[in-house]
Amino acid sequence: MDPTIKNMKFFVRTYGCQMNVADSNEMSRHLQARGLVETQDPDDASIMLVNTCTVRQHAEDRAFSEVGRLRKWKAKRPGRKIVVTGCAAERTKEYLEDRFPFVDLVVGAKSIEDFEQMAHRLLDRRVTDEELDYVVPAVEDKVAAFVTIMRGCNYSCTYCIVPYVRGREIYHSMDRILGEVQDRVREGAREIMLLGQTVNSYRHGDHRFADLLRAVANADGVDRVRFMSPHPYYMTDLVVETMAEVPQVCEGLHLPVQSGSNVMLKAMARNYTREQYVSRIEKMRQAMPDMSLSTDFIVGFPGETEEDFQQTLSLIEELRFDWAFIFKYSKREGTPAANLESYPESLIEERHQRCLELIDRIAIEKRSKLVGTMQDVLVEADNFGRTRTNYRVHINRRAAQARQGAALTNVAPGEEVRVRITNAQRATLEGEIQNGNVTFENFRQEDAGVRICTGE
Ligand code: SAM
Ligand code: SF4
Repeated sequence: MDPTIKNMKFFVRTYGCQMNVADSNEMSRHLQARGLVETQDPDDASIMLVNTCTVRQHAEDRAFSEVGRLRKWKAKRPGRKIVVTGCAAERTKEYLEDRFPFVDLVVGAKSIEDFEQMAHRLLDRRVTDEELDYVVPAVEDKVAAFVTIMRGCNYSCTYCIVPYVRGREIYHSMDRILGEVQDRVREGAREIMLLGQTVNSYRHGDHRFADLLRAVANADGVDRVRFMSPHPYYMTDLVVETMAEVPQVCEGLHLPVQSGSNVMLKAMARNYTREQYVSRIEKMRQAMPDMSLSTDFIVGFPGETEEDFQQTLSLIEELRFDWAFIFKYSKREGTPAANLESYPESLIEERHQRCLELIDRIAIEKRSKLVGTMQDVLVEADNFGRTRTNYRVHINRRAAQARQGAALTNVAPGEEVRVRITNAQRATLEGEIQNGNVTFENFRQEDAGVRICTGE
């Protein structure tokens, strides 16, 4: 380690999806390996890393206005460095360098794997800098960790900029992935989220996604496995069977559908129909009756008629998603859809609202059915954890244990505890940890009538 940069602090701001969070984590690890320490306070930092997103115009605008504000941050202390990375950096590298000449390093999304070397060169340039901060490195508990298994995307959905800024698919080898899983487990991870733009299209040598799922599930110390974002086309019988069979693989699925209209799915080049999507879900629900299902929709895609939009609403009613991200269509220059005439913002906004209202109504109905049920919750941080179906739960230890006359026990991150859900009004559920002095059956009887939120 270079002694002059030992424990220098860096701050990371991440925009966008889980892939970006995983990339930020990876870049942070490279900086930490050089002896730098992450801080949560930008004023404390000597290096500012802004990891950008360009999937929608809004995300890109926010990232760029943040970079603009960093001119002042940099001027406050000599030696400060600004690094801009990610998808917007890939798309607009020259523009970025022209408009923000005070940025020290631009690393596009396709070059994230070269970040280590690029950062070394940047840091080597600053060995004479006296403005360094020394702190004790923090040890963090990271119970749920991301592991990137592939980069890029071979699809060409007509609205999407990702293939342009992240390039074609590249798969990591099983050995590399399992090595990373072991690293994360050593750092405290119990749950592994496998990441890729079409994560279930994974292939390396003879290995396919289902093989990888099994291998990761069987790795020492791994209690739970999830993955994101799968593509409906690759949700094969084998993947479904593996999910249902392998206990560590959680029964929660985020499967982006984008639209309920076959006309729109075709215009988006999604290569599946509504009927195929529905039949996949039915198969999965047969295999995993308690599974949760979430999705992404785009509203206001060019040419989406009221009838097409109604198809989206009817799909939400039909499949009853647990939650969903509803995106307003955003025109991305260079994509095929950018040549089509866009709808006015007011129409897109109106459809967005209608869609959100329906999704929220169904989500509340679904959540309220969880009240009174017992859930295995993996504790991630103080009093917060997740069910296997990926609902976030706030664990109220005091109420339950006082009532049961039991001493207050601590739940540590990484522990899995049995929790009875007591309130589901908000997206984060409320639950009470159960002690051995009250049986599961007692709770089931007691809860038989509890179907609505009590607000307790
Ligand atoms: N690869 C994933 C898939 O195919 O489902 C999704 C990756 S993308 C970064 C995440 C979500 O952003 C998509 O599912 C889509 O709903 C949304 N999205 C992508 N491009 C968009 C655009 N131009 N306008 C609005 N939403 C968009
Ligand atoms: Fe974009 Fe489609 Fe690739 Fe997902 S599958 S990243 S939406 S091009």
